[in-house]
Amino acid sequence: MAEPGRVAKGAAEPVLADAIVVGAGPGGSAAARHLADRGLDVVLLEKTRFPREKVCGDGLTPRATRQLIRLGIDTSAESGWLRNKGLRIYGGGTDPFEMPWPELTDFPSYGLVRPRADFDDLLAKHAVAGGAHLYMETAVTGPILDERTDRIVGVTTKDGREFRAPFVVAADGNSARLAIGMGIQRRPDRPMGVAVRTYYRSPRHDDEWLESWLELWDGAPNQSSLLPGYGWIFGMGDGTCNVGLGILNTSPAFGKVDYKDLLLRWLANTPPEWGFTDPANQIGTVQGAALPMAFNRQPIYTRGLLLVGDAGGMVNPFNGEGIAYAMETAELAADAIAEAHYRGAGTTSAERALAGYEAAVKAELGGYYRLGTIFVKLIGHPKIMHLCTTYGLPRKTLMRFVHKLLANLTDKRDGDVMDRVINAMTRIAPSA
Ligand SMILES: Cc1cc2nc3c(=O)[nH]c(=O)nc-3n(C[C@H](O)[C@H](O)[C@H](O)COP(=O)(O)OP(=O)(O)OC[C@H]3O[C@@H](n4cnc5c(N)ncnc54)[C@H](O)[C@@H]3O)c2cc1C
Repeated sequence: MAEPGRVAKGAAEPVLADAIVVGAGPGGSAAARHLADRGLDVVLLEKTRFPREKVCGDGLTPRATRQLIRLGIDTSAESGWLRNKGLRIYGGGTDPFEMPWPELTDFPSYGLVRPRADFDDLLAKHAVAGGAHLYMETAVTGPILDERTDRIVGVTTKDGREFRAPFVVAADGNSARLAIGMGIQRRPDRPMGVAVRTYYRSPRHDDEWLESWLELWDGAPNQSSLLPGYGWIFGMGDGTCNVGLGILNTSPAFGKVDYKDLLLRWLANTPPEWGFTDPANQIGTVQGAALPMAFNRQPIYTRGLLLVGDAGGMVNPFNGEGIAYAMETAELAADAIAEAHYRGAGTTSAERALAGYEAAVKAELGGYYRLGTIFVKLIGHPKIMHLCTTYGLPRKTLMRFVHKLLANLTDKRDGDVMDRVINAMTRIAPSA
């Protein structure tokens, strides 16, 4: 599916484009499609070859679903999507209960599930269908900097090629190689998570709810040890479930426990009929990766480079969701680049438009992520989490509020009282 951009004569010549996007995960492919839709000639560079796996829970909230709809992707069951109605929450010693996604003007009231191997391939194809030029097996090694201005004017690749454009989107995920190449360092004051997951054959595969476990016990609840971290069980609709857990670096256990062992200890105490206690049902190994949160790399715009998604540490600290935010920041980045392109690359006016990217992202998510950094400090300790779940979960109105807050699902205009309180809190909080 790869196609050349404006290839200058001869293989050794650089490929020229209006914009370069590095990394074809959800952030990169969304950015490429939005840029192509805005009339730019865009190249999308991806180090792997699709379809490929990505360690993930494969769960999409209504916030991520909205981004798919904005891209013009058909999210019907006939197109291979499994819809979910909301969250089923376990914790606090009470029976599990179900929290439907809220009915809102700004978001659909359903989420989705799709294996990343399939999801990322689909998004990359969607970018190509819109006119982006995808280069697979093209690992970017670093930025090409203009000696005079110190701005990024292109990238080099492992196989010795050059791609040149006045605007570059770094969507290369948590490795953030390009951002590091531009001297952007990780902020240690931002929360970081680690999550592991695997797949099991299970009769629960077509569950209509995303299941979230706020407490993990290694035996009977309240009579055994409380394990650190939070778990999930997401039915994939294909005979399997994606099962995993995450731990925040605010937890005393972070970096000191065997996460794989933790996952298996938790699952060993789930009902046998679910299928997670029998190793014969496991498909593939337990794999893990980092969850960089709350803008852990800044600035997110500098000298022609815009950071999108995990490359800028944009995972939501409240719930570990990263796909929606990668796609959302991708759209904002495409808006800023298109504006700069049509104002004229290199002009002061174009630079103003590019700087507007950082302002737009912070206006949308800055206050919310600031609150998230406070939240993760509080819940990092299992005992505090236990207190919250014990006294909070039985209170349905409080839980509806928490549900909206954690999933970042409110109406910006004409919302209900909860929406207005959450929106006010995020407006007042200084940006992360
Ligand atoms: C175990 C686990 C479970 C998770 N579960 C969920 C979930 O259920 N829902 C959710 O919303 N989020 C979840 N997340 C977070 C989510 O996976 C990420 O936030 C999301 O993938 C970020 O998208 P991205 O496009 O920014 O980066 P990525 O998805 O990481 O994509 C980056 C792309 O860049 C490519 N790349 C990297 N380096 C280079 C290079 N040098 N040159 C060219 N290409 C390069 C990579 O191959 C990759 O294709 C989970 C994370 C983990 C670890």
